[in-house]
Amino acid sequence: MSHAIDQLNRPLHDLRISVTDRCNFRCTYCMPKSVFGRDYQFMPQDQLLTFEEMDRVARVFVDLGVRKIRLTGGEPLMRRDLESLVSKLALIPGTEDLALTTNGSFHITRIQSLKDAGLKRMTVSLDALDDATFMSMNDVDFPVSKVLEWIDVSANAGLGPVKINMVVKRGVNEHAILPMARYFREHCHVLRLIEYMDVGHSNGWRMDDVVTAAQIRDLLHADMPIEPLEPNSRGEVAERYRYTDGSGEIGIIASVSQPFCGDCSRARISADGKLYTCLFAINGTDMRGLLRGGASAAELREAITAVWQKRVDRYSELRSAQTEDLPKVEMSYIGG
Ligand code: SAM
Ligand code: SF4
Ligand code: SF4
Repeated sequence: MSHAIDQLNRPLHDLRISVTDRCNFRCTYCMPKSVFGRDYQFMPQDQLLTFEEMDRVARVFVDLGVRKIRLTGGEPLMRRDLESLVSKLALIPGTEDLALTTNGSFHITRIQSLKDAGLKRMTVSLDALDDATFMSMNDVDFPVSKVLEWIDVSANAGLGPVKINMVVKRGVNEHAILPMARYFREHCHVLRLIEYMDVGHSNGWRMDDVVTAAQIRDLLHADMPIEPLEPNSRGEVAERYRYTDGSGEIGIIASVSQPFCGDCSRARISADGKLYTCLFAINGTDMRGLLRGGASAAELREAITAVWQKRVDRYSELRSAQTEDLPKVEMSYIGG
């Protein structure tokens, strides 16, 4: 079967499925309480794709060239029995990687059940090592120690190397960069420092809030010398570095200052089954209607191929005064 290639010659290689738009955190850069308050209307249950529907659509994506599937959200573990979705996806022949991005706030017994269901890798978000900073960012007073425990138990369960995502926001958690780097170097987990992005509309993004990759690199290098590593694969988003003393690896994701659209091979399915070909897309293509209307695998394949073949997205490369004001969808909906 031929694989899908877009207008800029980019293959379809990764699929991110947002399994829910809900979350138990209110990270200020993603779901600020001012917008996602008590009255916020999340999607009704019947509008979310069922696990069976996600499995059907994922199989078609794998047939079209996808090799990596990541479950995200919102907080994916808010979806009851996520393990049963994992066990379905783990059975799709051809997938090389099945990963989960989580805030690591659920009971640690879930880790083994996810592993038993067939999960391969865990990515955990954590923005600081001190409670004061982390709690002010998650905005629900969730403590650092629980997330660190989640990370350790995941690594011990064989879901490593665990990646830790840290969004860096100027004046908020810059001071946490070096303590985080030292801690995760010592514990042999891969920290990835992410430039704060202008996703959605609710986080009030300003360029001034971004600590750039170059600034992060200089800060790290002055304390713990690092040198660049070759990318693992085409489309890899993190610039990888290793500590020159051989004590491990660290990544920087420069989505704002050095966009990587040229190699972007990701498709995203939102919790209500819309297909997006860019994190900053305005419109998605409805897959749920096709799935619920009884479309065959061949019909789904045709619909996805048509979308991917037309794809010209490169939002981050075009980011400018004009595009910053365009309507966009929220990260918690489309999945980070
Ligand atoms: N709830 C899960 C979590 O936090 O890991 C999964 C969904 S979350 C939207 C996925 C990733 O997006 C997280 O690592 C989060 O830190 C990142 N993220 C959210 N908003 C962001 C922003 N404005 N800029 C950069 N990264 C962001
Ligand atoms: Fe929830 Fe993840 Fe967004 Fe934080 S980054 S609000 S944990 S979805
Ligand atoms: Fe991919 Fe869009 Fe991000 Fe560019 S801006 S890397 S096309 S998701």
